[in-house]
Amino acid sequence: MIITNYHSHSHYCDGKGSLEEQVQGAIAQGLRAFGFSSHCPVPFENQWSMKAARLDDYLREAAALKEKYKGQIELYIGLEVDFLPQQLGPRDFSMLDYCVGSVHYVELNQFGQPWEIDGSSVEFLACLDTLYDGNIKVALEKYYDIIRQMVETDTPPIVGHLDKIKMHNEARPLFDESEEWYVALVEQTLQAIKKVGCIVEINTRGNYKRGLELYPSPWIIVRMNTLQIPICINSDSHRPEEITASFPLAFEAARAAGYTHQRVLLEGKWQDVELN
Ligand SMILES: [Zn+2]
Ligand SMILES: [Zn+2]
Repeated sequence: MIITNYHSHSHYCDGKGSLEEQVQGAIAQGLRAFGFSSHCPVPFENQWSMKAARLDDYLREAAALKEKYKGQIELYIGLEVDFLPQQLGPRDFSMLDYCVGSVHYVELNQFGQPWEIDGSSVEFLACLDTLYDGNIKVALEKYYDIIRQMVETDTPPIVGHLDKIKMHNEARPLFDESEEWYVALVEQTLQAIKKVGCIVEINTRGNYKRGLELYPSPWIIVRMNTLQIPICINSDSHRPEEITASFPLAFEAARAAGYTHQRVLLEGKWQDVELN
């Protein structure tokens, strides 16, 4: 079985360990190919993105490792690129081998700062209450609308953690995924993804970090298979030992949804490889 991971972080952003330590972890865990995807620099301060001044070093170091480990593992240089409508997106990073396009921000918060959907639930909920009077439906409509804009205008090869915002249900039950309006919202987004041909990753981080379901949830993976949207199993690792964390669960969910293949970057091109 071919094991790969194209969603990984390091000390260039909020991960632990150098790029080379990630590579060594990937080799130890039997990967055929591995992609670097630090959080791209963003035009404001935050706790977890790469500083703009470090981007050149990142690209240079990754390129050197690609050479150094030739013959042992295929390495790809990417970024997890934030999509900020009319401001920043996958299109701005055409120098990469690939990228993961992710939405981490919805609107501006009560302090006029970009509102993180990926940070602490305390801050997320405070902003939800202030901005939308606690109405998660309005926030989710906005969130999925930004994902649709991203796939339509910037079409990243991989869409990152599609339904990550659901993680805040843990702190306060905000919505039920079986509600009709939510199913419709996801469906509309999957249709937009289908149309442009992006891969949707099955991201295991919520599972090994918080004991949550996969991103996206298994019922969404089933629907993706019906629509023949390609998948790619990624861990969103933030340290070397997380590189294949919860992979058995993701492979199982993909197979249970009817998938026989995942789409991965090998020998410089995206290709479908068997899940078995
Ligand atoms: Zn992310
Ligand atoms: Zn990530």
